[in-house]
Amino acid sequence: MDVDIVCVGFGPATGGFLTTLSRALTSTDGTPKPESSVTPGAPPQIVCYERADDIGFSVSGVVTRARGIRGTFPDLDPSQIPMCAPVKHEKVLYLLDPIGASRRSATLRTVDTLICALQKLLPVESGAIELPYIPPYLQKHGGLVMSIGQFNQWVGAQLMNAGLVQIWPGTPVAKPLIENNSVTGVQLADQGTDKSGSPEAGFLPGMDVRAALTVLGDGPVGPIGRQIDQHFGLPRGHHQRDWAVGMKFVVNLPENCLLEAGTVLHTLGYPEPEIFGFLYVYPDRIASLGIFVPSWFESPVRTAYRYLQHWMLHPYLWRYLNGGRLRSWGAKTLGESGRRGEPHLVGDGYARIGEGSGSTNVLTGSGVDEAWVTGVQLGEAVLELLQQKKPFTKENLEATYVKRRRASWVEAEGRVAERARDGFHRGVVTGLIGMALAGATKGRLAPPVEPRSARAHTPSLEKYYQDRIPPAEIEKLRDECAAKSASLHDALMERAGWPAIPYDGKLLVSHQDALLMGGKVQAPAGYADHVVFLYPELCEKCGAKICIEICSGQAITPGGNGVPAFDREKCIHCGACIWNCTTPHPFDPERGLIEFRAGAGGLHSAEN
Ligand SMILES: Cc1cc2nc3c(=O)[nH]c(=O)nc-3n(C[C@H](O)[C@H](O)[C@H](O)COP(=O)(O)OP(=O)(O)OC[C@H]3O[C@@H](n4cnc5c(N)ncnc54)[C@H](O)[C@@H]3O)c2cc1C
Ligand code: SF4
Ligand code: SF4
Repeated sequence: MDVDIVCVGFGPATGGFLTTLSRALTSTDGTPKPESSVTPGAPPQIVCYERADDIGFSVSGVVTRARGIRGTFPDLDPSQIPMCAPVKHEKVLYLLDPIGASRRSATLRTVDTLICALQKLLPVESGAIELPYIPPYLQKHGGLVMSIGQFNQWVGAQLMNAGLVQIWPGTPVAKPLIENNSVTGVQLADQGTDKSGSPEAGFLPGMDVRAALTVLGDGPVGPIGRQIDQHFGLPRGHHQRDWAVGMKFVVNLPENCLLEAGTVLHTLGYPEPEIFGFLYVYPDRIASLGIFVPSWFESPVRTAYRYLQHWMLHPYLWRYLNGGRLRSWGAKTLGESGRRGEPHLVGDGYARIGEGSGSTNVLTGSGVDEAWVTGVQLGEAVLELLQQKKPFTKENLEATYVKRRRASWVEAEGRVAERARDGFHRGVVTGLIGMALAGATKGRLAPPVEPRSARAHTPSLEKYYQDRIPPAEIEKLRDECAAKSASLHDALMERAGWPAIPYDGKLLVSHQDALLMGGKVQAPAGYADHVVFLYPELCEKCGAKICIEICSGQAITPGGNGVPAFDREKCIHCGACIWNCTTPHPFDPERGLIEFRAGAGGLHSAEN
């Protein structure tokens, strides 16, 4: 099939791109302004493919200053978007450890002791202290809290009503078409295959969709962006070593909860000092809450689900949440290398927008608005090139899209944030100092620490637990869990002092129940497995098997012969397994041994 523009993925970046473009495709009398080159007399044919089964099945916080979004919708009325409210109150809280199980450095333990000793003089409440000052770069005053699923649906509905672009959910893109170093379109995923990709009855080979311009808005772990990076490489000095998995619940708060819509709480310090948390209150006593587990957290059991439950149970938060009910659950990887992870933004026939293009800002904790703005910038650039009848060459895209991007606040603020989080690779205290330094000096100063990939610094289970669990006991727990085909983290955490979770069937539910009740995870038949262990013989020798421990959907489990097993029916496409393999790829030490391909299915909730 031939079209003018093909887009991969429908997130805020593509939303910004398509909204900008579609508003200028026809004159007021309905005649096309720029004309299609594949369907003469018609407006440009623009198609967007989204792998999830609906355009609202994404996962995000969200609190956003919404500068770019408001630029596109100057009369935006938050009450028109479900689950959206203006930001009213903001707090940043340091959570003390009420259990005594978290791993705190000597400096943090001293800080905790001082806070406890002076608690009558300090604003300490239910085991948490509110920071007296929120640095300006973190403030979201004047912004919005919202659900990314509802926002994407709101944007998508307007686009579909306008009828100028086609959006196809449930359609994974398998690969880019690359000819002579030009991107000439994409190929959709085969249907009617078995798990290994071999044709079965009803086989439908993935269609080639040829386009003058391919727009990659496929997010931080999109397989198409990753294939483009493997083909073209990253710009010199850039790397993508910083990641986090963000896991969240959307909950009905209990009736007696006094938190107002528009309340924004950010936390640090607990359940482990490396884990940041958030709680945003929507209208109608609904809240979005969750944690980020970063790649620099030196734990071989980076289990977001278990940590999220301990975080909710912190006394400061639990007094608001106790009696609440889970509505929705999800998780997704964030690309935290930001500007320094920026790939080649354009090439002949293609352009990158959104988080996959390095737009997310880890200093301001903001990704949605930045993604939106990069989409708007590309939309304006494409209109300019269409009007001037110029081809989508690297040179022309540089002169229009990249030029706009370099002149914008996304670039300026991205530069400030570039090294802001490097200090976390040396510890939480250095990390926090680094953020403060980078913020105060506009990025001129940051600790001289070079980020390492999770692979390079994740210790073995034996080393990580050396002061708490003897190696022989770890081996015993490993065997017991393998016999049950279960992950190891619950057993290890409980042995290391974390209490069992008191399930209440409402908010404190098992991981499997969260998949069913909150994620409503599904996987249509007829697609190949999208998580592939490239070198099973190396997996056999792998000790920690961190891919099993971190899997957000319990889709990776201990398999036969020491090679993990993958179950499509439970995968929520969070992408955490990509950066959590501890064994370097034999030909590319920046990669692990898991290949994450385009796949259908995943979460079926439009509230995240
Ligand atoms: C838990 C969590 C909390 C967050 N909180 C905040 C916050 O408070 N504020 C904030 O500003 N940002 C927040 N973020 C970050 C924010 O969500 C992202 O920066 C933003 O969504 C990036 O937008 P995007 O359009 O670039 O990519 P995405 O939103 O990731 O969209 C990419 C889309 O491409 C699709 N796709 C990928 N591959 C393919 C393929 N092969 N074929 C077809 N489709 C494909 C994906 O399914 C997805 O829908 C948070 C993220 C998480 C996970
Ligand atoms: S994928 Fe990586 S982490 Fe998982 S078992 Fe194989 S080598 Fe180990
Ligand atoms: S297998 Fe699926 S759910 Fe598990 S970490 Fe990978 S992408 Fe996430």
